[in-house]
Amino acid sequence: MLFSRIIYGPIHSRRLGNSLGINLLPSDRKICNFDCVYCECGFAEKMASKATLPTVQEYTMALEEALQQADLDIDTITFSGNGEPTLHPNFLEIVQVTRTLRDRYFPNAKISLLSNATKISTKKEAIMLCDNRILKLDSAVDTTLQLIDRPVEHDLTAEKIIENLQTFAGDFVLQTCFLRGEYQGKKFDNTTPNELQAWYEAVKKTNPKQVMVYAIDRQTPVKTIEKLTFEEIQSLVLPLQEQGFDVQIFA
Ligand code: SF4
Repeated sequence: MLFSRIIYGPIHSRRLGNSLGINLLPSDRKICNFDCVYCECGFAEKMASKATLPTVQEYTMALEEALQQADLDIDTITFSGNGEPTLHPNFLEIVQVTRTLRDRYFPNAKISLLSNATKISTKKEAIMLCDNRILKLDSAVDTTLQLIDRPVEHDLTAEKIIENLQTFAGDFVLQTCFLRGEYQGKKFDNTTPNELQAWYEAVKKTNPKQVMVYAIDRQTPVKTIEKLTFEEIQSLVLPLQEQGFDVQIFA
């Protein structure tokens, strides 16, 4: 599933309420430095593209028009779309423009960022300007993260991501997709006792203000992925909830 426009919605999001979605990536392919087995956009290598990234000016015009025409209340303006939003070279300027237009049209709306947390060290200023930083960590065990998230840059490791998440001093939301499956003869499962132990440790170390855990929701490029039930996810996160962490389950 690819978004064909810069702005989409508002759509009702199970996590964010009425969300006006922002796609800063091309309309006909994914651009991401991960290529997750569960990515709703599909695998990157199968996509040929002619489209380019929107300029700041194109984005500004599209957002202003959407905000002027919105006929229901907007709870959040959400950077998501066809890949990793922070990879847009003008991401900082784009977030600044978004704040200005948000203040003008929907001052109560939050600006949310759904990000894979790989650009924290280089895009921190822009990430900090978003009200809701929802940052992904699918496994604290690097071999599993490599199988599930399939980073295209070799230095993207679980350790590095956890280290960068710690720099927020807890001022972020951690998101994790729980899943099991197999791809190219390799099994992945981020719900084993060993995995959970490492993930609990990462949560304690990074101390997010909220943890969002979820099961796959839509079609995925890998067909063997098992969708976990709400009850199963509930049992996985119970130890964290018992320690006082705010864990929200979306399954
Ligand atoms: S990080 Fe998000 S956009 Fe990138 S491949 Fe994974 S699911 Fe898709």
